[in-house]
Amino acid sequence: MKFDIAVIGGGIVGAATFYKLQKRNPNLVIALFEKEEALAAHQTGHNSGVIHSGLYYKPGSLKAKNCIEGRHELVSFAKEYGIDHDVCGKVVVATEEKELPHMDRILSIGAENKIEGIEKITADQVRDIEPHVKSIGGIWVPCTGIIDFVGAAKKMVDLALSINKESKVYTGCEVKGVEKNENFSVLNTSKGNYEANYLVFAVVFKPIDWLEKMM
Ligand SMILES: Cc1cc2nc3c(=O)[nH]c(=O)nc-3n(C[C@H](O)[C@H](O)[C@H](O)COP(=O)(O)OP(=O)(O)OC[C@H]3O[C@@H](n4cnc5c(N)ncnc54)[C@H](O)[C@@H]3O)c2cc1C
Repeated sequence: MKFDIAVIGGGIVGAATFYKLQKRNPNLVIALFEKEEALAAHQTGHNSGVIHSGLYYKPGSLKAKNCIEGRHELVSFAKEYGIDHDVCGKVVVATEEKELPHMDRILSIGAENKIEGIEKITADQVRDIEPHVKSIGGIWVPCTGIIDFVGAAKKMVDLALSINKESKVYTGCEVKGVEKNENFSVLNTSKGNYEANYLVFAVVFKPIDWLEKMM
């Protein structure tokens, strides 16, 4: 079987890539390959579920842009498709005097990154928000939240599949190698060979031998 694009890895990055590519290009036939029987079974399914605000990233950097724009998009997506989430806010606290200059630095990065509603708060205000935290002051970040990333990833994949009925998801299908031809690539998987014109790898957490050889 031949696809326009193959996305390898069914965590949140692969799922979001599949969804965005399919939404922008409804006519392209795309395949997602995931080695586990279920999607989002690795980092995506075992993280802290925090929707990060973009508080720590260098202003103007791609990381800051990605985090801030991504947060807005993720919360809108969760609202539109009923994904469990809660924009409950968070506090960043200092517990010792020596941490206060660092807090001021974080606050100014947050202000430059236009993180909505951040403010410096006193130890008493921290205690009102979170009675179990003992601090000497903090920063209130109201736009941070938590989300069911597994639910979000699965919904993105379902939506992508509903856009083009010929697109496919292969779970329990490990990509074991890739042969590059002039115009397309052949994926060698645990369930046979598949061809694709373009490949997107959304798998790399630790080095994979065959992927390194390709690069
Ligand atoms: C302890 C911890 C806490 C974190 N907390 C947060 C948080 O609160 N908020 C936040 O935004 N981020 C958090 N992160 C980071 C976040 O979890 C990751 O950035 C994100 O899940 C990465 O998604 P991914 O799709 O790249 O990886 P994964 O979710 O790991 O997906 C990669 C997928 O590729 C598949 N795969 C691998 N090799 C192959 C192959 N050869 N063939 C087919 N499939 C393959 C895997 O089975 C896996 O499903 C945390 C990370 C850690 C470690």
